[in-house]
Amino acid sequence: MGEIKRVGVIGAGQMGNGIAQVFATKGVHVAMLDVNDDALKKGLSTIQKSLSKLVEKGKLEPPMMGMALGHVALTTDYAALKDRDLIIEAATENLDLKREIFRQIDEVAKDGAILATNTSSISITTLAAGTKRPASFIGMHFMNPVPLMQLVEVIRGLDTDDATFSTIMELATSLGKTPVACNDFPGFVANRILLPMINEAVYALMEGVADAQSIDQIMKLGMNHPMGPLSLADLIGLDTCLAIMQVLHRDLGDSKYRPCPLLKKYVDAGHLGRKTGRGFYKYD
Ligand code: NAD
Repeated sequence: MGEIKRVGVIGAGQMGNGIAQVFATKGVHVAMLDVNDDALKKGLSTIQKSLSKLVEKGKLEPPMMGMALGHVALTTDYAALKDRDLIIEAATENLDLKREIFRQIDEVAKDGAILATNTSSISITTLAAGTKRPASFIGMHFMNPVPLMQLVEVIRGLDTDDATFSTIMELATSLGKTPVACNDFPGFVANRILLPMINEAVYALMEGVADAQSIDQIMKLGMNHPMGPLSLADLIGLDTCLAIMQVLHRDLGDSKYRPCPLLKKYVDAGHLGRKTGRGFYKYD
């Protein structure tokens, strides 16, 4: 892992716990921080289930599971991040929340630490500018589910320096991922293209073009996509999908990115997809 021996992860949700798992499986010490013990316990239990599945499938040696779990520490205290070489923020997709988190990280992080965000759409340059170290700030956008997906989209802010960029590209490779670099524009590449497609699928549902199953089946069978767009929206989280569309709409200023009212209605109802047991589909 080169110079990155200790990592901090902010947020124990589906992305945070996935990122923590991937580092811990490579023997890197991870401190995972969330707002309360319940969120941390839920995150740790997701890691346990995910590691068990990998063992069952023969993709992970059984002793490695204990080793990985032994490398994850849980905390609600930012002071636990003071010795970290890299701190990756993976909390809820909200600019003000992320700004406040980086203000607290900036207070405790050691000199030379790299600060990264897993944001899906928010400006890296804006988040970096709120810290004392924009040169050491970068976007490290993992895909969901993190242990299985190959891509890491690496996004340079306006002031990200070459050393930070090359450390993160090498790190992603040593995690067994494929990093691909892009520039800092709303939604970067992945969500600039994916989310308007998902949003359009929700419009098709709202307008009665077809029911949810048919929309997904048409896109799976017709476009060879592994999942339909509405199933994928449920996996991502409808709150996250809405937040990304709002960033695209506001920051690119084009009405073609307006979030579908039906997407907003589901979020208002608290039907956020798999994580709440109901989105466009119902889950156990
Ligand atoms: P999630 O809802 O599963 O988890 C968010 C976590 O953040 C929760 O555990 C919550 O308690 C925690 N949190 C909220 N406020 C916090 C605070 N002040 N301090 C610390 N923790 C706090 O969301 P997620 O899907 O894991 O998304 C996290 C980030 O990753 C977002 O920026 C999202 O855009 C991005 N992302 C999501 C996906 C996806 O498919 N869901 C993919 C790539 C990137």
